[in-house]
Amino acid sequence: MTNDAQSLRCIDLHIHTQFSDGKHSLDEAYKVAHNKGLKYVAITDHYSEFTALPNRMSKRDLGGYLETLRRVQAFKGLEVEIMEDGSVSMSAKTGNDFDVIVGGLHSVHGVRFWRDLTPILDAKGFVDDVRVALIKAMESRCLDVLAHVTWLPPSLCSRMRELVGAEWIASVIEAASDFGVAIELNGRWQLPNEDWVKRCVHHGVQLSLGSDAHTLQAIGNTGHGVKLLTDLQVPKDLVYLPRNMTL
Ligand SMILES: [Zn+2]
Ligand SMILES: [Zn+2]
Repeated sequence: MTNDAQSLRCIDLHIHTQFSDGKHSLDEAYKVAHNKGLKYVAITDHYSEFTALPNRMSKRDLGGYLETLRRVQAFKGLEVEIMEDGSVSMSAKTGNDFDVIVGGLHSVHGVRFWRDLTPILDAKGFVDDVRVALIKAMESRCLDVLAHVTWLPPSLCSRMRELVGAEWIASVIEAASDFGVAIELNGRWQLPNEDWVKRCVHHGVQLSLGSDAHTLQAIGNTGHGVKLLTDLQVPKDLVYLPRNMTL
């Protein structure tokens, strides 16, 4: 059985709030998601357990975050930091309190992927270090979903096809398959592409829909992923939902 776009549009498993770098309160985010007709909603604020990082929740904030999440009917989620060495910014014990742990890599070699125009001299080495970090993070078994894979700093974006080749993709998808991690179709960055979806289907790797919303307007903006899942007629059992739920 294939997916219909309507049921896929009810999923958004990657939303930020003021608990990290979102622009709105968690209650507002949930209300807007509900009003937009979303049925499967995960709030996934950035979290750093071991080191204080800007715009990341610390362990101190976790109690209040969980308490607020229990009030709304959203899945309890976190976006943990994948560090350059492949470690993740959360202990396995903390993960037990949540329904969905999304892992995101946001910088390598001190170059942030967001608006950082630092020139990268060894682009191949840089992109390979990204690959190694993603795979190591999946090996930790702390992640349910790998966020915005193939997101790179702006200076490398135009070279994506050359830098992220078939072997690069194959090794990341193989690790996702080995460690049971879903690959996210990210609405904000419109990543990854059709090739990834075909390969994930081939390897039985689940795909997750997330807007990566930081504003109320962006909640539910999962059109990139919905289109890919629909066009490629991805079976429903390959659409990731927390708590082993199925569409
Ligand atoms: Zn992220
Ligand atoms: Zn995010």
